[in-house]
Amino acid sequence: MKFNELGLKDTILSAITDMGYESPTPIQQEAIPYLLDNQGDLIGLASTGTGKTAAFGLPLLNQIETDSKNTQGLIICPTRELCIQISKDLNTYAKNIRGINIVPVYGGTDIVKQIRQIERGAQIIVATPGRLLDLINRRKIKLGEVEAVILDEADEMLNMGFKEDIDSILEKTPDYKNVWLFSATMPKEVSRIAKNYMEQPFEITVGGKNETNKNIEHHYYVVKERDRFQALKSIIDFNPNIYGLIFCRTRRDTAAVADKLMAGGYNAEPLHGDLSQAQRDRVMQKFRSKTLQILVATDVAARGIDVDDITHVIHYQLPEDVENYTHRSGRTARAGKKGTSIALINTKEGRRIKSIERIIKSQFDLKKVPSPSEIVETQLSSLISGITDAEVDSSRIEKYMPVLMEQLEDYSKEDLIKRFVSAEFNKFLSYYENSRDLNASQRSGGNDRDDYGSRKRGSRDRGDRNDANKQRFFVSLGRKDGFNHGALLRLLCDNTGVNKSDIGKIDILDSFSFFDADKKETETILRKMQGIDFEGSMLNVEKTKNRDENRGGGNSGGGNKKSYARRSSGNSSGGDRLRRSEGNRSSRRRSYKN
Ligand code: AMP
Repeated sequence: MKFNELGLKDTILSAITDMGYESPTPIQQEAIPYLLDNQGDLIGLASTGTGKTAAFGLPLLNQIETDSKNTQGLIICPTRELCIQISKDLNTYAKNIRGINIVPVYGGTDIVKQIRQIERGAQIIVATPGRLLDLINRRKIKLGEVEAVILDEADEMLNMGFKEDIDSILEKTPDYKNVWLFSATMPKEVSRIAKNYMEQPFEITVGGKNETNKNIEHHYYVVKERDRFQALKSIIDFNPNIYGLIFCRTRRDTAAVADKLMAGGYNAEPLHGDLSQAQRDRVMQKFRSKTLQILVATDVAARGIDVDDITHVIHYQLPEDVENYTHRSGRTARAGKKGTSIALINTKEGRRIKSIERIIKSQFDLKKVPSPSEIVETQLSSLISGITDAEVDSSRIEKYMPVLMEQLEDYSKEDLIKRFVSAEFNKFLSYYENSRDLNASQRSGGNDRDDYGSRKRGSRDRGDRNDANKQRFFVSLGRKDGFNHGALLRLLCDNTGVNKSDIGKIDILDSFSFFDADKKETETILRKMQGIDFEGSMLNVEKTKNRDENRGGGNSGGGNKKSYARRSSGNSSGGDRLRRSEGNRSSRRRSYKN
């Protein structure tokens, strides 16, 4: 099928031809003729990258009366980035239509400027829900003549908590308007909107409900929690030409992963909500222009990212809500291209992969973290291809050749290759020489945790004192040092890579603390927590002799605390207080043993 068979105006067709689109995508083939020929509501189940914007944008542009300055089309989408992208796309499609004004409005920027633009007459407004409602309430947007309301990425908007805003907006639009709703998934909340605000909608599904793009290969790697980052590095190194998006669950993890990658010399940067809008714009601009190779992002910050050509989406951690996997992985394999979605999981997360497979109706392939020699080979061959593929402009380098030849004349070809590879590669080679196999075997059923690493109902609670698999640790900081549960957990997770679910009971006392952790993590904890700085105090972490010793029982006033104070100080008259009086830096020397 060709675009000129769809019934679009010539002004629009010529713009499409200029864009180089050859034929409509499946969603465009179905949606455009329907929307041109029918007054009615429409539901398009399609994920990002399928050509949705043109699917609703072209028929919308086709019906705009440019003689009127009134708002006739309202597009509502979840994020500022998507809002800007949609209006940019629409402006390109509309470049040959005279007198059309498409205005994007979103939060976080000067509302007065946006009002001025609207007042000039905006036949199409592209908006995020919060800012749109604000403008409607200020009576700056008149909805009386709106003919089509488009909800783009409806599931994302509801995920982000815009339910009430969307209800309020839809209630304020005329009854006769048409609603065109696009969503990658169809959770209950989206169905509710359809039921409340749409009449017998025409439904188009691209590639099956909740199904992700067929051009995406889904891979997963099983590694121990503490090896997660190293495995990520191996995967990146094994794909030297990666143009990738890495997802982490929290802002903190996002920042930490990006920091570690940058420190390791990777061309990576973070994108998360702690950055200012200007910083986020700068990062996105670098990523879009491919100056930046790897973007590490939170789910929220990455919403609305629609960058073509992303080769890999890496789930450094699986999303909290498995439904979000579809959104994340949909950032690759856009516009008919192929892409790979890679999930890094620990030994207990196998069941989450199964849940995702049910949602995406597609199978994951279990992959092995590449071995050091495989990685080195790939890197070398990429380096060599870079050289053999390089364009040589002899005229430019000719004048330097005599000096170069003279300097290198004593070296054989083999010698030169070795030296050249060593110069580029020595650090890399020695890193991988010392690395080990990172693959772990997946735990098959029978473990005591559910998919999210928390315990199943009915199983022992976290404070179970008789858990033989736990080691109890002493930490030299307590409440008086500003230390608390969160700080301890954060230090453990940030520095040791130990899974939160492997950490047991934590007792924070006045001047020192205790915690339980899985015995298998003992060495890692002792090695990685020793000497860490906490707000100017250096941490001392030691094993307690046996687990039942020194239990505060979650109550710092308990008898066990006293027995610890005596034993640790060797002084029955308040050794703990004595240590504190030595001054702040004394915490560095606090020790479990005497
Ligand atoms: P969308 O799903 O609307 O974000 O579109 C994803 C990408 O596909 C964008 O870069 C569009 O420019 C591109 N695209 C949309 N429709 C077509 C088409 N018919 N042919 C080629 N590329 C397209």
